[in-house]
Amino acid sequence: MDIQQLPVISCNTVVVGSGAAALNAADRLVHYGQKDVVIVTEGMNMGTSRNTGSDKQTYYKLTLSGAEPDSVYDMAKTLFDGGAMDGDIALVEAALSAKAFYHLVDIGVPFPHNQFGEYVGYKTDHDPRQRATSAGPLTSKYMTEKLEHQVRQKGIRLFDRHQVIGILTDSHQSRTIGVIALALDADPAQTDPYVLFNATNVIYATGGPAGMYGTSVYPPSQTGATGIAFEAGVKGKNLTESQFGIASIKFRWNLSGTYQQVLPRYVSIAPDGSEPCEFLEDYFPDPGKMLDAIFLKGYQWPFDPRKVANYGSSLIDILVYYETVIKGRRVFLDFRHNPSWGSENGELDFSLLGEEAYTYLKNSQALFGRPIDRLAHMNQPAIDLYLNNGIDLSQEMLEIAVCAQHNNGGLEGNSWWESNLKHFFPVGEVNGSHGVYRPGGSALNSGQVGSTRAAQYIAARYRQEPMPRQEFLAEAKVQIEAKMELGRKFLAKLGPESNAAAIRRQIQERMTRSGAHIRSLEQASANAKAALSQLESLVDDTEIESPFELGLCFQNYDLLICQYVYLSAIKDYIERGGKSRGSYLVYDPEGELPLPQLPEQFRFSLTADPYFGQHIQRIQFQGSGCSFSWDPVKPIPRESGWFETVWNDYLADKIVR
Ligand SMILES: Cc1cc2nc3c(=O)[nH]c(=O)nc-3n(C[C@H](O)[C@H](O)[C@H](O)COP(=O)(O)OP(=O)(O)OC[C@H]3O[C@@H](n4cnc5c(N)ncnc54)[C@H](O)[C@@H]3O)c2cc1C
Repeated sequence: MDIQQLPVISCNTVVVGSGAAALNAADRLVHYGQKDVVIVTEGMNMGTSRNTGSDKQTYYKLTLSGAEPDSVYDMAKTLFDGGAMDGDIALVEAALSAKAFYHLVDIGVPFPHNQFGEYVGYKTDHDPRQRATSAGPLTSKYMTEKLEHQVRQKGIRLFDRHQVIGILTDSHQSRTIGVIALALDADPAQTDPYVLFNATNVIYATGGPAGMYGTSVYPPSQTGATGIAFEAGVKGKNLTESQFGIASIKFRWNLSGTYQQVLPRYVSIAPDGSEPCEFLEDYFPDPGKMLDAIFLKGYQWPFDPRKVANYGSSLIDILVYYETVIKGRRVFLDFRHNPSWGSENGELDFSLLGEEAYTYLKNSQALFGRPIDRLAHMNQPAIDLYLNNGIDLSQEMLEIAVCAQHNNGGLEGNSWWESNLKHFFPVGEVNGSHGVYRPGGSALNSGQVGSTRAAQYIAARYRQEPMPRQEFLAEAKVQIEAKMELGRKFLAKLGPESNAAAIRRQIQERMTRSGAHIRSLEQASANAKAALSQLESLVDDTEIESPFELGLCFQNYDLLICQYVYLSAIKDYIERGGKSRGSYLVYDPEGELPLPQLPEQFRFSLTADPYFGQHIQRIQFQGSGCSFSWDPVKPIPRESGWFETVWNDYLADKIVR
């Protein structure tokens, strides 16, 4: 094991990942004059941005059309009002939203505009205006394609199929000095498969920690790499806050918008396919209330404990979870038949609907037929999408579950997206810039804004050359050798059978059981402990049948650190008195059951204490424990200013600091 033999790539900035945030970071860096940039990704076409979408995938930005007033401050306030969000970050995300959006427009992302050039918007969830826009179901995919084109045109060096397995720091863990990656196509039986990146800066755009969850609508190609950032000393922020909602699982896709507004039938069956039943009927007082709840799920997609009472739309998520996880049944959406309750001879009685649902369907001229007929009439591409993925909604039912979809929290970053580990910039979903609630589409905006800010900062302040090779190797020697030793130990477990995928499933089942949208102190504590003990015995317990499984082993290592830290954050939140909010329900013995016939574990109450919206939980991993702080949110800055003052500061280079 001689680290002197390993290839060392030296550069000013290494960008990790190839999603919308990473590609924008690299593109912007070069645009701002920083030439010496390298992209390292485990797979050019992997990740969430490239492989996901929804009924109308949304981008959130300042109002850019019409007569309705809007302002940077108003938009910042919308973001800030989501709770537990820092005001300076909210202001930056609002201020740069138009710039980031127009950049995407300019490079060819087909956001629609009218004949006057106005980018007309619509209202998304948690949005008081109409700031949302969309390029269709595949907005983020188009973003990555157009950004990749820019990156290739600029000739930015790309290391594809390189999985980052460690963040390298100086000996005080005060700043990053690069990363170590596993070359996924190298045969570890023949050669040391590691590549070192010696960099002044790391922009870390590895996406959400998707690999931790069993029930998930993240694309299978997204795993995440947040754990190794914790290992390097980067703090986590708002890790308790993620979004969960109803999605199809055979082909992973959010079932929002029209998929619900056409009022499909919810069917539960026993694991052997017997006993089909329309289970929602057992819980709603009348068919009208049930149909309204299904309809509202369309634009109240994420599970929200505030929308459970009075037969709200989130009661459906609870009932789907009850059927699937607790009763062990399977749940499907059936578009071929109308819900029986409220229909006669298969014809739905639309007069049972509340005003909102009725008017919507009437205006859409869709007060007829079966759900599939209404879907074909209102949104044929929604049917085609499933057809293109081997599912014919006119012939078969669609299996669903309540799935993990997005992490609002993540790694800590300041208003230039630099973390507590200096020169390390988490951007995109891996950065926990959001609060408890966020408008739909703000994730994509935050990724573009954050990567732009990081690039601006590096181009202005961190242009230094990387360390000389020998100095870098000396500084990182212990860390590099530790990673190589870990790899060597995994490879020593080569034998006739592998359990690496089975270990992954254990990790995922644990998270879905204790860290998804139904939580309790007991489960979080027990499972945080279980994650840590599995981490400690991972090498001993792992068996592999091919050296090419090394990447999977390093991912399991990363995911266990990540899971331990996330579950510890949940535990700490509940111990401090935190209750149900955002997109999760916390068991509260003093709370209320949504319905008397539901089991005890659904007893909950909403977080009423304003402390939790006014403070942000930060967490730092320390090997076999975690430390926490609860910091007051920063207010939205109001001193932004008088033109001449800003101009003078700008000319004196006092802005990017
Ligand atoms: C079903 C669904 C619908 C959504 N709809 C919306 C929406 O309408 N509006 C919205 O704003 N947001 C939406 N989101 C969220 C949004 O799509 C994501 O937050 C965003 O695309 C994340 O982009 P990113 O660049 O940060 O990460 P990703 O696109 O996930 O990219 C991460 C990259 O890092 C790479 N990587 C990971 N680990 C490593 C490693 N160890 N080494 C090297 N490379 C690595 C991956 O391969 C990938 O290239 C949705 C998400 C889902 C799942």
